Amino acid sequence: MLASVFGSVHSTIHSTAFSIAEDGVIVFLAVVWLGFAYRVHRDARRRIDDGRLVGFATLLGMVPLIGPSVYVLFRPPETLADVRAREIEMRALRTRLAQSEPRCPVCLSEVENDYLVCPVCTTRLREPCTNCDAPLEALWQTCPYCATPVGVTRSIDAADLDAALSAEAAIATGEIAQQPLQG
Ligand SMILES: [Zn+2]
Ligand SMILES: [Zn+2]
Repeated sequence: MLASVFGSVHSTIHSTAFSIAEDGVIVFLAVVWLGFAYRVHRDARRRIDDGRLVGFATLLGMVPLIGPSVYVLFRPPETLADVRAREIEMRALRTRLAQSEPRCPVCLSEVENDYLVCPVCTTRLREPCTNCDAPLEALWQTCPYCATPVGVTRSIDAADLDAALSAEAAIATGEIAQQPLQG
């Protein structure tokens, strides 16, 4: 009697242990399966911009074993962050190239930043400063080298003004003197 009770207890414990082990394996497989599907979903979100395609990739990732392998074979090679970084790099490179090689707007030949005229097609590129003759960009409002505002004529000092006035006076008197001869 006692032996048979022990026996049935023993077998009960055994079958319980077995079923716990079986449950454990099932739970483990389920975790692995969901883990793969989740990894595929996260990877797809990093690489694919289209929400529907991400959903499709996730469904594919949920197919046990084969799904994730097929996804890895056909996923985009670059992540979206990589693509964005490359685009920014390319834009910076293009800007740098555009800045380093100034070109004539008419014939597109290379010119230097201080050329007044294109040496190939003679297009006027810049105006010289009226005071120091430095080449000025079209948008500049004042000369950065001598601080003369753009559009102001060369400053005349007192001696020059004096000489100019006396020269003008001499011409005027000469004209007056010549007038009777012409008349
Ligand atoms: Zn030119
Ligand atoms: Zn100047």
